[in-house]
Amino acid sequence: EVRVRFAPSPTGNLHVGGARTALFNYLFARSQGGKFVLRIEDTDLERSTRKSEEAMLNDLSWLGLNWDEGPSVGGDYGPYRQSERNSLYKEYAEKLLESGAVYRCFCSNEELEQMKERAKQMQLPPVYTGKWRTASDEEIKQELAKGTPYTYRFRVPKEGNLKISDLIRGEVSWSLDTLGDFVIMRSNGQPVYNFCVTVDDTTMRISHVIRLAEEHLPNTLRQALIYKALGFSMPSFAHVSLILAPDRSKLSKRHGATSVGQFREMGYLPQAMVNYLALLGWGDGTENEFFTIDQLVEKFSISRVNKSGAIFDSTKLRWMNGQHLRALPPEELLKIFGDRWKCTSVLLESEGIFIQDATELLKDGVDLITEADTALSNLLSYPLYTTLSSEECKPIVQDKLSEVAASLISAYDGGELPAALEEGHAGWQKWVKGFGKLLKRKGKSLFMPLRVLLTGKLHGPDMGGSILLIYKAGLWGVVNPEAG
Ligand code: GLU
Repeated sequence: EVRVRFAPSPTGNLHVGGARTALFNYLFARSQGGKFVLRIEDTDLERSTRKSEEAMLNDLSWLGLNWDEGPSVGGDYGPYRQSERNSLYKEYAEKLLESGAVYRCFCSNEELEQMKERAKQMQLPPVYTGKWRTASDEEIKQELAKGTPYTYRFRVPKEGNLKISDLIRGEVSWSLDTLGDFVIMRSNGQPVYNFCVTVDDTTMRISHVIRLAEEHLPNTLRQALIYKALGFSMPSFAHVSLILAPDRSKLSKRHGATSVGQFREMGYLPQAMVNYLALLGWGDGTENEFFTIDQLVEKFSISRVNKSGAIFDSTKLRWMNGQHLRALPPEELLKIFGDRWKCTSVLLESEGIFIQDATELLKDGVDLITEADTALSNLLSYPLYTTLSSEECKPIVQDKLSEVAASLISAYDGGELPAALEEGHAGWQKWVKGFGKLLKRKGKSLFMPLRVLLTGKLHGPDMGGSILLIYKAGLWGVVNPEAG
């Protein structure tokens, strides 16, 4: 059975890198009919917080990456927080001690520092060279009797190679002679990260480990040694590459938004985030870039995941958000825009028809949900009914576009234009045709001045739609005069 896990450390926010790792795990599990497990790696007690854990779970849920086992849903292999699994780690540490795979190391911190210093001076790797690797039972007994604190140190084979076959990178091999004996349990009984992961991945029956190469390949070597020593079979590994900034450096805060929560607040849709993150290192082999999560599940395969780093292009993400926004079912888009307009108080009340017309008119110019606000307030910031009849405006528009403006004002004041607008699109079209005839203008020379006069802008969404909306807004009083 395929069982994968996403194993975040709750020490901050969920970033796009972590979200992509979670997504690849999720897609792999779903595409294989397997299970997606969530494990909280809170061995770093000082930096881990429940608040961060909650925020991460919340972000994962927002993305739609629902886990089958883990915090808040439970499962047969829990607990799913490392901090709650100490007795298990202890049990396996004792087994390793019994088999001789680990030994007690009574070195003090000063001794270890000196060892490091010596290695540095001789330009050797800082491997453990202390006596406890080969100490006699007698020596150990003495220290135990004295109550000297000790760590559990893993006995790394002195030479040879270790190989794993990685589903993305192919064969990866390490030579063991530069790896020192490492600690798996500290003197205070606190187990060390790599050891916990090995015990967890085995006892949680994880079949595939998909994670970041740059951060975790060195851990894989240590973990592989622990698997062997415990007599566990290893999961398959797939190490994905970093997400890079456009300058090919590691993506970080200085490149702008990097956490999932930030993107949510900026007005991104989870569908677009998921789609874009999937493309960071994966593609289906065609030109196609637009995928729903179900399509991703159907198409995803680890063999198509790229070995090299993927560049995070925020312009493309924004574009993709627009694509997903416009692909939403109309009622959903309506709800999103309507909620937005209500909660940001561009509109006082929810006039159904108004929201529908406004959504239809403005959606093509909006990529982020938050842009819906500016799109509407831009449009309504030049309301026909006040502008055209305001005394101060008359001379300005008359001066600039005098001929069209004069006729327009008389059409408005005389009531023909409002009457036409009452009849909606058809009324507007009929009126504008007659208006053009009257002025002997058509095309640009008619529409440009009209647009400027009626909307206050040179460009914008469909003119008839805009005018009608502005007109309705004025008539119905749905515009919040305090907004903007
Ligand atoms: N807790 C690790 C991290 O946050 C993940 C470890 C793993 O996937 O094995 O990067």
